[in-house]
Amino acid sequence: MKITIWGTRGSLPAPSPENNQYGGNTSCVQVTYKDTMLILDAGSGIRRLGSDFPPDLRRIDILLTHLHMDHIMGLGFFLPLYNPALEINIWGPTSTREPLINRLQRYLSPPLFPIRLQDLPSQPNIIELNHSSFSIGSLQIQSAYVCHPGPTVGYRIESPDAVLTYIPDHEPALGAANFPNEPEWTSGYELAKDADLLLHDAQYTPDEYTPRVGWGHSSIEDALRFAEMAAVKRLLFFHHDPSHTDEYLHHLMERALHNKTYAFKTGIAAEGDSIVLP
Ligand SMILES: [Zn+2]
Ligand SMILES: [Zn+2]
Repeated sequence: MKITIWGTRGSLPAPSPENNQYGGNTSCVQVTYKDTMLILDAGSGIRRLGSDFPPDLRRIDILLTHLHMDHIMGLGFFLPLYNPALEINIWGPTSTREPLINRLQRYLSPPLFPIRLQDLPSQPNIIELNHSSFSIGSLQIQSAYVCHPGPTVGYRIESPDAVLTYIPDHEPALGAANFPNEPEWTSGYELAKDADLLLHDAQYTPDEYTPRVGWGHSSIEDALRFAEMAAVKRLLFFHHDPSHTDEYLHHLMERALHNKTYAFKTGIAAEGDSIVLP
């Protein structure tokens, strides 16, 4: 399984010279395995992926975690959506209030976007999921709701020899009174358990988190606690705060790891990274 990261930023694109190393584009991750390709979230990073596209591919599956703007803002700029020869499936969480297609149309229609979702030449299929298990090509996928404002899922993606877990927006410390000591009561645990690689929300420092409890994001320390609880093999901090520069991210990671040892590898997800599992 090959994982390529096209966007790591949370909340808002943050292009600037101080963010060159980890990138300014919002969430987008490409997963390829044999002849299957999945895209996790359609943040601003998906634009570049759309122009660097394997020409012989006939089917693309875009798996959205939720509909906050930073996870869908790139959709209208993803060129394959304008190719009628492609089969494109857009998956996203069910809401009790409104069908997924209506919620996506709120962005993909005037005045926010000039072209309507239903007029896109590829005529994408819109598919709702919740606590679901399904397969795409040779990949087995599990989705489950996680703790974040509005209907939001995380994904566990399994090939025969590797597991990737993707939970970019997640506040596991909320809702589990005894976090991280009761794994079975913790949001996202079943998705992340024993994963080879976990891409997880690490937006805040502890000081930033305290006044933002309930906003749906993790402190770096909580991301480490969650990864340890789930016994993952590798954690990459994801969904970087727009105000955190490369230099500051280095400093935060050093501070979080100071005098601590973990059984898993840690790092900061960077736009442009490619990782092959296992
Ligand atoms: Zn987000
Ligand atoms: Zn969000």
